[in-house]
Amino acid sequence: MSNYKIETKCIQGGYQPKNGEPRVLPIYQSTTYKYDSSEHLGDLFDLKVPGHMYTRISNPTVAAVEEKIASLEGGIGAMCTSSGQAANMLAILNIAQSGDNFISVSEIYGGTVNLFAVTLKKMGIAVRFIKPGMTEQETDALFDERTRAVFGETLANPALEVLDIEKYAALAHKHGVPLIVDNTFPTPVLCRPFEYGADIVTHSTTKYMDGHASVVGGVIVDSGNFDWSAGNRYPELTEPDESYHGVVYTRDFGKLAYITKARVQLLRDIGATPTPMAAFLLNLGLETLHLRIVRHSENALKVAQYLEQNDKIAWVNYPGLESNSQFALAKKYLSGGASGVISFGIKGGRDAAVKFMDSLKLAAIVVHVADARTCVLHPASTTHRQLTDEQLEAAGIGSDLVRMSVGIENAEDIISDIEQALSQI
Ligand SMILES: *Cc1c(COP(=O)(O)O)cnc(C)c1O
Repeated sequence: MSNYKIETKCIQGGYQPKNGEPRVLPIYQSTTYKYDSSEHLGDLFDLKVPGHMYTRISNPTVAAVEEKIASLEGGIGAMCTSSGQAANMLAILNIAQSGDNFISVSEIYGGTVNLFAVTLKKMGIAVRFIKPGMTEQETDALFDERTRAVFGETLANPALEVLDIEKYAALAHKHGVPLIVDNTFPTPVLCRPFEYGADIVTHSTTKYMDGHASVVGGVIVDSGNFDWSAGNRYPELTEPDESYHGVVYTRDFGKLAYITKARVQLLRDIGATPTPMAAFLLNLGLETLHLRIVRHSENALKVAQYLEQNDKIAWVNYPGLESNSQFALAKKYLSGGASGVISFGIKGGRDAAVKFMDSLKLAAIVVHVADARTCVLHPASTTHRQLTDEQLEAAGIGSDLVRMSVGIENAEDIISDIEQALSQI
């Protein structure tokens, strides 16, 4: 599979049926697996031989999807989780413990801000945010000997800032830590962060990967490129795991150390496991990802261009627009399209935004982005309402911001709907 282009991998990656086996990925609806001898099962528990022992840790349907996603991203291994939140939590927990800290770009998804600043903090893991406009010196000063990673989103939800992956990879590596990139919005069809130096990629597969708003899920992908043994920052990977009678992940699993530990230790203990049915549905979505994400991007560009020349609109933010501050970065990192989400402000602020949204007929108001159907949301009063005004500003979200996830309907129909809703204001 690795020699094929990404479109082919979307369709045929992962599950490879042998002679006489089902053509379509089967749903292995089984929690458990049969073995002929206790010794074989013992070897499985000791991680001496590969195989499935219990679906909390691995399952053949899930494994096939993991293999497909790893190959799409160009990674050496992947682990699916029950949600994108679980993926980001486990990605950090896998290399940080109480007393450690990590650095995050501040313009990220609101749910991730809460996960980092509230829940991980309760576990004794501190997040330090890189704020927009910080000098290199100020950024460097955030790091110390307990820093374990740098985190950012390729295309921030909903601020739509494009992460300069090469710059942040260089920053992370200068300080001896990996760069973790949440690549949810572009998907590997539009951007593969490993090609620019990122070490770990996460996704909310709930978004474009599934693409039909039918199943919540997440994934962590390991590039296999980060050297966990250089420096003494990752004892959990380089020293014996007592919960696995002395396994040393870097010694016993080499380049697969990180993703192996995430599974056999964290998925085992925390159980944020996707179901086989969820993996099957995700796989169906992935089979058309390469077609959908291109159409999402084309439609979003058309809608953004329409809005830009409409005098009822105060501003439009879409990195695919030449007038956008992110255009140069988008050209570099998102050359195949800037994905389907745009944000804009309507003249008249909050009230006009609400009137506009309530007048839409084709586009629906939903707490979601990135599925086939066009939808809109006012983040300040919904998804991001737990954030303070300061946090909203840090995340790049104004109170007049309308986020539109442009679907793959006919672009003219989407634009007509926007036009008639604007005329109601
Ligand atoms: C939605 C989202 C998440 C959270 O994923 P869930 O699947 O909803 O748990 C994380 N990161 C980004 C960029 C997202 O858009």
